Amino acid sequence: MNFCYNLNFSKWVNKKKDSNIPWKYCESLPTNILHVKCKFCSHVWWGGKVRTKHHLVGTKKDVIPCRSVPDEVKEIFLKLLKSKERKKEDKI
Ligand SMILES: [Zn+2]
Repeated sequence: MNFCYNLNFSKWVNKKKDSNIPWKYCESLPTNILHVKCKFCSHVWWGGKVRTKHHLVGTKKDVIPCRSVPDEVKEIFLKLLKSKERKKEDKI
């Protein structure tokens, strides 16, 4: 299958793998790195990349669920959240 969402990934490549995945789907605003905007629905919130996962998965934890996220992306973050539950939450 071809998952081409026509997003601009080039700015966000590399550094750490796992914990940077959310930056493919949201972007931080110039005002503050914790002030981020969803690339799918343009919703803006405070809380950085951890909250991005909850937004895209739709857990309703501290942030409203995304209405425009593709199922494939949702699954990626569901898996991430499940694997993180066993460990500890991301430290920002
Ligand atoms: Zn969204």
